[in-house]
Amino acid sequence: MARSTFQTLPGTRDILEPDASRLRHLVTLFGDLAAGAGFGQIVPPMFEDIEVFARLGEASDVVSKELYSFEDKGGRSIALRPEFTASVCRAFTQYRPTTPWKTWYAGSNFRYDKPQKGRYRQFDQVGIEVIGSHDPQLDVEVIALAQRLFDELGLAVELRINSLGDFAGRPAYLETLRSYFESNAEGLSEAARATLEVNPLRLLDAKRPQDAAIAAAAPTILDSLAPDAEAAFATVRRGLDALKVDYVVDPLLVRGLDYYNRTTFEFSAPGLEAAQNAVGGGGRYDGLVEALGGPAEPGVGFAIGVDRTLLACEAAGLSLLSDSAVDVWVIDATGAVDTGLVLVEELRRAGIRADRSYDGRSLKAQMKNANRSGAPVAVIVGEDELAAGTVSVRSMTGGTQEQVPRGQLLTAVRSGLAQSGGPKDGEDRT
Ligand code: AMP
Repeated sequence: MARSTFQTLPGTRDILEPDASRLRHLVTLFGDLAAGAGFGQIVPPMFEDIEVFARLGEASDVVSKELYSFEDKGGRSIALRPEFTASVCRAFTQYRPTTPWKTWYAGSNFRYDKPQKGRYRQFDQVGIEVIGSHDPQLDVEVIALAQRLFDELGLAVELRINSLGDFAGRPAYLETLRSYFESNAEGLSEAARATLEVNPLRLLDAKRPQDAAIAAAAPTILDSLAPDAEAAFATVRRGLDALKVDYVVDPLLVRGLDYYNRTTFEFSAPGLEAAQNAVGGGGRYDGLVEALGGPAEPGVGFAIGVDRTLLACEAAGLSLLSDSAVDVWVIDATGAVDTGLVLVEELRRAGIRADRSYDGRSLKAQMKNANRSGAPVAVIVGEDELAAGTVSVRSMTGGTQEQVPRGQLLTAVRSGLAQSGGPKDGEDRT
């Protein structure tokens, strides 16, 4: 029979330990922060009618080039979600919850992107969306929540903000921009000239140096904001100042999706390579719910790239992990079916993280396992302990060991853990 070996597809990977624990830590931390700020969780489906995502704007790469789309067996045109915002707006339209509707989410997205470090075809995001309020103070709160996640992780990030103004003023600005770029067309790259045909706004954050140089001198949208949009942006800046959130105003920040208006922002991590250093971003999308067939409700939110944030933490030397996976290693030298097995279960039921060796390994081999696990405490039971109705509790850090009656297992383990600095409760992870 032919044998084949399989590997993950390009742009996908298995997230193994310890990275999986880091990911879990980040998602838990984020969920707690969001819940603590009045956000409820949403778990939308991973695929939707392709039209839900098409509304994100045909001029963005995410829709025009990167969608994973297919026809299902019922003949429906489907796409795997490339981001959450469209699904959240679709859900709002479907259920019409009371506003402001504040939701948070965590999960995988799919984009047919060019794979490289920090850029994957399946990647994770955490994020929030608020639907139903125009208040620019909310924009500030939204930005501050993202900043708080980075602060809690201990990760230094840079925040850039901009206002893209209102949709009403957009056509006039696009025309100004188009004629500026057209008059400089001979200096633009071929790719940039093609982008110019589709959406001149996209050129503002062009990466190629020749294009970036021209974009840097382009007329800025901040000079043509309508009075309301200008006042809102002033409130956002004053609010960030009041919360002592550092930022720079970057009139070239347009972001990759077309649905944004007014406030937009992006966080980058200086420790990552420039092309992939955006760790999160978001902004207002006051027309998206309506574009999805819903009421004319405004929205604001952000998504943080989990994979990249974890890479940035790694680059900054932040481990995000507790020292050991478990607190107690059970060493059973009796081989009886009702010794180690029962001890481990009892510890786990008491909320103590515990593990053990299998396959009747020698005492020495089990000791090695215990050492490797990093568990600060080992519980040992051999023939002597079994006969005497006791267990030995050993401090793996201090090397001391005491025999206690079997009934005092939990008390002895807890005091052993307390002496070694306490059980790892997941709080002390930096
Ligand atoms: P976006 O939804 O494009 O605004 O992206 C929000 C964040 O998701 C970005 O700042 C990145 O951190 C992350 N992200 C976007 N695309 C990818 C990708 N292909 N691979 C890994 N992370 C991504």
